[in-house]
Amino acid sequence: MKNKITLTHCIILEGNENMEPKENMSIVIEDGLISYIGENPNTKDSEIIDLYDKYVLPGLINAHVHLPGSGKPSKPGSQNADSVKKLIGNPIAYSVIKRMCANYAKTELLSGTTTIRTMGGLGQIDSSIRDSVNNGEKIGPRMLVSDMAVSVPGGHMAGVLAYEATSPEECRTYVSKIAEGKPDIIKLMITGGVLDAKVKGEPGILKMPLEYVEAACAEAHKLGFKVAAHTESTEGVLVALKGGVDTIEHGAMPTDEIIALYKERKAADICTISPALPIATFPTELTNSTELVQYNGKVVMDGIIESAKECLANDIPVGLGTDTACPFVTHYNMWRELYLFHKYVGVSTSFALYSATLGNAKILGIEKETGSVTEGKSADLFIADCNPLDDLSILAKPYMVVFKGKIMKNPKVKKYAKIEKNLDVAFAKL
Ligand SMILES: [Zn+2]
Repeated sequence: MKNKITLTHCIILEGNENMEPKENMSIVIEDGLISYIGENPNTKDSEIIDLYDKYVLPGLINAHVHLPGSGKPSKPGSQNADSVKKLIGNPIAYSVIKRMCANYAKTELLSGTTTIRTMGGLGQIDSSIRDSVNNGEKIGPRMLVSDMAVSVPGGHMAGVLAYEATSPEECRTYVSKIAEGKPDIIKLMITGGVLDAKVKGEPGILKMPLEYVEAACAEAHKLGFKVAAHTESTEGVLVALKGGVDTIEHGAMPTDEIIALYKERKAADICTISPALPIATFPTELTNSTELVQYNGKVVMDGIIESAKECLANDIPVGLGTDTACPFVTHYNMWRELYLFHKYVGVSTSFALYSATLGNAKILGIEKETGSVTEGKSADLFIADCNPLDDLSILAKPYMVVFKGKIMKNPKVKKYAKIEKNLDVAFAKL
């Protein structure tokens, strides 16, 4: 017999661009898929869960996650390549890190994020967690993973979450090496980041030459993978798009040429305000950073926001990700990215919710499977006490999470009080 569940008295927010609440609906879930949405369900042989007018929306999709890290600000220099290599080389440490990463993935799910895309991890930990979730050994969200990224010597995350390529040929070799671990996507680190910038006003300087990017993208596309790239400067975005990258992670102040290239290449922008806000606006003692880092953080934050605005104005898809594990970016706060997108980029709450659900699903190529409350799709649902379109902070605590039809009632995650307090103060000023 089929595993059949009927949710009754639902107010549905479907997940599309101009969603309106649909009241008094029932949702029938059979073997993990939504088989019926409407007012007259056939409840024969079904478990019935009365939701008493709770809001049912698609599970959120976080398009930019790093699993190895909690988001608690760490001491400067604690993530250097040598210490990471030592840890990964030690089987006991490796299994501890893997368990930690799996727990963070579970936290994403329990906070209502039913799909994550990882954008740089340690070894093949991400893909092995994905496989354990898919075969039912672990509880976690749907995962699209990149495993290790490709960077260059002295580049972003080089030797930590990324291999260091010294030629276009090596870029190809690393891409095919990563592909052997069966990831879902290839990640490149094209520019530096805020934390490794050396010059005031020049965050995200170009590190990976165009020929490297072209070689990596050609190899990835040949093997059937899309390419995402860390890019935090205008020059970097230009090289990324010319080289064939499919999604620009973070983004920077755009130019007409960049907008034209986005369109020509059918590329998308992934907006990540969550990691920029604390670095750009918190006192430096809190983020363990310097004035230089804070200044450059502001440059990057402005670039991320302008990039998203210009892309939207030109009908270029904009997705949302939190860049978890950056200082103050935890695995349970996807709702904050929606809020920041709404406030800084100036979109409606429904467009923010669309961007984090169906919009992200389209960019990630999984819109047939998930991303909206639609018959035939996976039952990946976020159930909220009140209407999140009135107040996105409702999404901070799901009433229930459903993933592939599995019901998680009153899901709880461990929150970090100091992080929440500081973010709440900053959000109150927006
Ligand atoms: Zn990142």
